[in-house]
Amino acid sequence: MQNTEIKTTCSYCGVGCGIIVKNDSKNGVTVTGDKNHPVNRGMLCSKGMNLHYVVNDTSDRILYPEMRWSRSHPKERVSWDAALDRAAAVFSSIIKKHGPDSVGFYISGQCLTEEYYLVNKLVKGFLKTNNIDTNSRLCMSSAVAGYKKTFGEDSVPIAYADIELADTFLITGANPAFCHPILFRRLEQHKEKNPKTKIIVVDPRRTDSAMAADLHLQIFPGTDIILYHAIGRRLIEKGFVDFDFIGNHTENFSAYKDLVMGSSYEKASKLCGVSVDDIHTAADIIGKAKGFISMWAMGLNQSAIGVDKNTALLNLSLITGQIGKPGSGPFSLTGQPNAMGGREVGGMANLLAVHKELNNPEHRKEVADFWGIDAISEKPGLTATEMFDALESGKMKAIWIICTNPMVSLPDARRAEKALQNAKFVVVQDISHNADTAKFADVLLPAAGWLEKEGTMTNSERRISYLPKGINAPGEALSDVEILLAFAKKMKFSGFNFNNTEAVYKEYCLMTKGTNIDVSYLNYSRLKNEGTFQWPVPDYGHPGTPRLFADRKFFTPSQKAIFNIPTSIENTSEPPSDQYPFILTTGRIRDQWHTMTKTGKVSRLMTHTPSPVLEINPIDAYKSKIKNGDIVVVSSKNGEVRVKAKVTDTIKEGVLFLPMHWGKQLDNDLNRTNNLTNTIVDPISKEPDFKYTTVAVTKYVKP
Ligand code: SF4
Repeated sequence: MQNTEIKTTCSYCGVGCGIIVKNDSKNGVTVTGDKNHPVNRGMLCSKGMNLHYVVNDTSDRILYPEMRWSRSHPKERVSWDAALDRAAAVFSSIIKKHGPDSVGFYISGQCLTEEYYLVNKLVKGFLKTNNIDTNSRLCMSSAVAGYKKTFGEDSVPIAYADIELADTFLITGANPAFCHPILFRRLEQHKEKNPKTKIIVVDPRRTDSAMAADLHLQIFPGTDIILYHAIGRRLIEKGFVDFDFIGNHTENFSAYKDLVMGSSYEKASKLCGVSVDDIHTAADIIGKAKGFISMWAMGLNQSAIGVDKNTALLNLSLITGQIGKPGSGPFSLTGQPNAMGGREVGGMANLLAVHKELNNPEHRKEVADFWGIDAISEKPGLTATEMFDALESGKMKAIWIICTNPMVSLPDARRAEKALQNAKFVVVQDISHNADTAKFADVLLPAAGWLEKEGTMTNSERRISYLPKGINAPGEALSDVEILLAFAKKMKFSGFNFNNTEAVYKEYCLMTKGTNIDVSYLNYSRLKNEGTFQWPVPDYGHPGTPRLFADRKFFTPSQKAIFNIPTSIENTSEPPSDQYPFILTTGRIRDQWHTMTKTGKVSRLMTHTPSPVLEINPIDAYKSKIKNGDIVVVSSKNGEVRVKAKVTDTIKEGVLFLPMHWGKQLDNDLNRTNNLTNTIVDPISKEPDFKYTTVAVTKYVKP
């Protein structure tokens, strides 16, 4: 495949930028931004710009299947047949002895839609367990639950094009300047052209996004709902309320009004750590907006009260009627390139494909009938952290991990490590030996990476794009679809007679017919020839749907949006104590992606932040006798890390920040932030509470 040029989509974040890839014998693969792509219009961020380094450097790649017969033996090269025979034999024997729920699959928001669909069909339909979850559980499951509670279904209402039509933005619990850079660049360009555009940022850190804002509300972690309710009260008091929209298109406003009118600005100011004036200013800006967009990400989702935070924020769009109109609406930002596609095909333990629910008997029957099987188990599947708990306790015996690195990304990572050590059988299907998780594999399967396989993805704005295969995978690596089909064959499952990836997509598209995410008229040919589409695409000539709810009809039984009352207004995480007086919040840095298995091999991406650094406020540093550049030990109930301190007033007093990317280095795990994080999850979404762990910090003293 030499001297080719193809159009594809960036494999990093959920923005979904268009990329032109050239491949020639002289330079190998090179990338440039696609000027005609509706998302990025030629722009790429530092990560996207350097994607070719990742593709051209195959030094870390898993090139052929490997297997070990016992934990005391090293892995050795085997054939695909031998590896999959063993996987099938061990999974069959464990299921026979301990039942289907003794096995599980842990997959990824980086899987393509076809892979996501196929593995869910295989596990929920044929292995007869619902123990399949995705690392997207760690990123956006609270947003999914929030949308469902408010709109009746998981539905991101707006499009990137709405950015250029809005005049007011509330960015809360997100740092798009680093994590969704091209989207943020579009916002900056819009503000440059329209200086009256207002940006409000809510964040305990003065991030690069906050620095570009007109107003930064530097709240204490966990106080988001209190702030939104205070803003809600001010909107109602000042008459910034769309009564027509509320009366005709929403339910439960009076309960919401009673709740927020009973709140106190002074109390909110004290608890949130921002002034009453700033709360009023934020509300007044939102209230006067012609087009109001809220944007959020992990800062809201990764919380013990993540779902309540989401619904409390969505209420602000409902009060003001700022939804379903050009330039307005709530907009959750997805972190991974195909987190949205995974949601469409039922990629989480509690979901079924096409936005059906596992706990709904009719939905289970519809999907079972479509797949031609007798039934889908009614037993709820284990979520990401629950699966690792079950491995640790011995309730689950085997796990198959695809395209994700839980040994770095799960909370309380040392415990997660013990869980994998305790597992009877671990299959890891991935591209890189660098992933810490690969070391735990009994069977290691080499997967094809970006550009080495075809398939589709959906970005944050529901935009589906087709990714062609551009180059051959190295060694014996196969696409995830090929691996899953080969395993299904070994298991002698019917229903997997797909000739290729396109056939898998066809089956999924057919399943969407008549649903709210209908793409039954979409196919590879249209995606290749006509470009990207935002779902739903319910007809052959349909151009796709940039904006949902234009008719103000929501997906609830009454077609009205619901004002939700939070179960808990105040944070339910473990509060700071004398022993652990600081709140640690974790997040991403500009040039790294997830657990660095790809960005970590690009030297120019390592220069921005070469090693993990703890951000600490000057007052806290002074009290703790820590100076800028000191090595410090951060400890929590679960573990410790040893990193350099960066004393900075960009972080709120009492709060510390660590990047989440680093894993074990040279078998030393003291770089791994998730040694510290707590195991609390939101009770509805089961998303971990990464943004609030109580810790202590001291200067490191050499023993
Ligand atoms: Fe890739 Fe996201 Fe950067 Fe776009 S913004 S180039 S999708 S990492």
